[in-house]
Amino acid sequence: MEEQLKKSDTLNVVGELAAGIAHEIRNPMTALKGFIQLLEDSIQEDHSMYFNIITSELMRIDSIINEFLILAKPQLVEYIDKDITKIMKETVEFLTAQAVLHNVQIRTCYENGLPNVFCEPNQMKKVFINLIKNAIEVMPKGGLITVSMELTADNRIHISIQDEGEGIPEDMLTKLGQPFYTTKEKGTGLGLMVTYKIIEEHNGSITVESELGVGTIFHIYLPFEKYRV
Ligand code: ADP
Ligand code: MG
Repeated sequence: MEEQLKKSDTLNVVGELAAGIAHEIRNPMTALKGFIQLLEDSIQEDHSMYFNIITSELMRIDSIINEFLILAKPQLVEYIDKDITKIMKETVEFLTAQAVLHNVQIRTCYENGLPNVFCEPNQMKKVFINLIKNAIEVMPKGGLITVSMELTADNRIHISIQDEGEGIPEDMLTKLGQPFYTTKEKGTGLGLMVTYKIIEEHNGSITVESELGVGTIFHIYLPFEKYRV
C-alpha cells in the first residue's frame, strides 16, 4: 500500500502562522527557562516534583517551538551542492547511540559515487533525523532499520528508510504529516509535517509504504540537477 504525499496549501498557511507565533513565544520562553533554573536550589523538598514537571513541560514547549520555527522562512537559507550520502552518514552516526539503547541496529547501503544534491544541508539532516527517530521509536523491542541510497533510472536520488515496526493502518496514512497527528504519549506530531515541507521545498517527493505487523518504508526522491528554489 503506497500513498503519495502531496503539497498541502492548508499546511503552508497553518505552518507559517504557527511559525510566526512560535517566533514570538521564543523570547519569553528563554526568560522562563532561565529564571526557573535559578529557582532550583531554593525549591523546598516537597515541591521538587512540581519543579520537575515544570521543567519537562517547558522542554516540551521548546521542542514544539523549534519544529514550527523550521517552517518559518529561515533567516539564512544556504542551498549548496552537497554530498547527500555524507549527510546521511553523519546522521546515522549521530543516532547510533540512541539506536543501541533501544536494541535497534541500523544497516546502511549506499550506492557509490552519487551526484551532489543542491540542498540546505541542515534541513536535510533534520529530515533524516526525523525519519530514523520515528523508525527507532516504532520498535520498542528492538529490530533492524535499513537505510539505502541509490540512483533511479530517471536520474533521481532515491533514499529509503525501512523499519520492522508495527506498521501504519491504511486509513491513517493520509493523516501523516498533519500538524499534531501523533499516536505517541509524548509525541508532538510535528516531525513528519516538517519533513514533508522540507522535501517539498527541495522539489522532491516522499511516499510511504506500510504493512501492518511487518513494517514501514519511507521513500524520498530528490532531483540532483542544479536548480534554484
Ligand atoms: P511524533 O513522532 O511526535 O508522533 P511524527 O510527525 O514524527 O510525530 O509522526 C506522526 C505519527 O506518524 C506517529 O505518532 C506515528 O503514529 C506515525 N509514524 C511515523 N513514522 C512511523 C513509522 N516508521 N512506523 C509507524 N508509524 C509511524
Ligand atoms: Mg517523530
